[in-house]
Amino acid sequence: MYDKTIAEQSRALTRGELSSVELTQSYLDRIRQFDGDINSYITVTEELALDQARAADERRASGDAGAMTGIPLAHKDLFCTEGVKTSCGSRMLDNFIAPYESTVTARFKDAGAVMLGKTNMDEFAMGSSNENSYYGPVKNPWDKAAIPGGSSGGSAAAVAARLAAGATGTDTGGSIRQPASHCGITGLKPTYGRVSRWGMVAYASSLDQAGPMTRSAEDAAIMLNTMAGFDPRDSTSLEHSVPDYTTTLNDSLEGLTIGLPKEYIAAGLDADVEKQIDRSITEYVKLGAKVKEVSLPNAGLCIPAYYVIAPAEASSNLSRFDGVRFGHRCEDPQDLMDLYLRSRSEGFGEEVKRRIIVGTYALSSGYYDAYYRKAQQIRRLIRDDFLDAFKECDVIMGPNAPTAAFDLGAINNDPVAMYLSDIYTLSVNLAGLPGLSVPVGMANNRPVGLQIIGQHFAEARLLNIGHRLQQVTDWHLQSPALI
Ligand code: GLN
Repeated sequence: MYDKTIAEQSRALTRGELSSVELTQSYLDRIRQFDGDINSYITVTEELALDQARAADERRASGDAGAMTGIPLAHKDLFCTEGVKTSCGSRMLDNFIAPYESTVTARFKDAGAVMLGKTNMDEFAMGSSNENSYYGPVKNPWDKAAIPGGSSGGSAAAVAARLAAGATGTDTGGSIRQPASHCGITGLKPTYGRVSRWGMVAYASSLDQAGPMTRSAEDAAIMLNTMAGFDPRDSTSLEHSVPDYTTTLNDSLEGLTIGLPKEYIAAGLDADVEKQIDRSITEYVKLGAKVKEVSLPNAGLCIPAYYVIAPAEASSNLSRFDGVRFGHRCEDPQDLMDLYLRSRSEGFGEEVKRRIIVGTYALSSGYYDAYYRKAQQIRRLIRDDFLDAFKECDVIMGPNAPTAAFDLGAINNDPVAMYLSDIYTLSVNLAGLPGLSVPVGMANNRPVGLQIIGQHFAEARLLNIGHRLQQVTDWHLQSPALI
């Protein structure tokens, strides 16, 4: 059953073909067997998971069950989970037991879902390869020499390796879509404000958004049904009605206009990736869609704009980790300055420090106008480009990343090369739009995902478009041979 989708598992639970305890145990066994090597989990909450599974079985027996009741999930280790370590992939929070529950994980708890554990990630969600984790890199289950993508690489690897039925991730500049793409799974980054950020350790607050990482678009719809919705505790969550995302999955694609930005076919795009993307677009044409060239003239500016805005917000958000209230504290501080300095120097890894320095610089008086304000202006241009493009098309399609997953260690010492690999995902966050990644083939024996970008609040349409492709292709059902 571990190889089945959430939708199938849910039906099997309803029919009484298996219990949540059995299902949960099968994942726990697989985690024990395979995760030593893959390293997708930071914490496995075995006892808690079995308790929740027992409660879910009772709930099913009493007739009070929803689609998520009894389904074993993994949560990215930046969602605060009460009583459970929430490390954010950092030494800084290695000793942090969250005193409260994030809205997202609370909603899954209320729905009766089971938490198997917390997944590995780039420290404070900064990275594209999962090599920035204090807990060591995650391996791509399809090819253990490859990165799984980042920063939600643990969640992506866990779902790909069948070590969880589904997982949560967060996406500030691509961290759901890009690891989903590299691990051959489905990942949705919702519209900014669709899902509550309350209880998520903040990276860049104007960009961060949580979403589902699953085998299929149908599963992403099922998970989003639980995750989405207004939360009075997050002032940026929007009071916008939440549809049942599963009801429109089979809608017709007849007449859908797909925009293909001419800027996306650029130098640096791997020819095999391009071939897989083209082939999937041909499938959509067979399903009744039309294709139109569009333009996003400022697409190339997303990297410099993002790598000013995200570090600027991060430098502010991460100032709370000072060794005083919680988190890592250095031994024997001599005075307050020494306490701050050494606690932060020891607690944060190299990439996090780099971003804090860049962000502090960009926000400092004298440089604020030249960098931060300029970046915000570019952000507006990027958003306007999308809104203009959407006058001519319903959705935009393209790659998630210029190449399939690269080798572990290949560019980890070259931050600029790493940042360049985010070219296709960052602008979607800058514009606050939803984006879906669905697996569409392999390049160099590693998975390739198609990115589908929609208008604000078009999650239902994106999931419908992803689902229809998954009715005529089976990339999402293929699984890596572990061992
Ligand atoms: N790779 C991007 C970064 O390092 C995006 C990360 C994310 O979405 N959390 O900032």
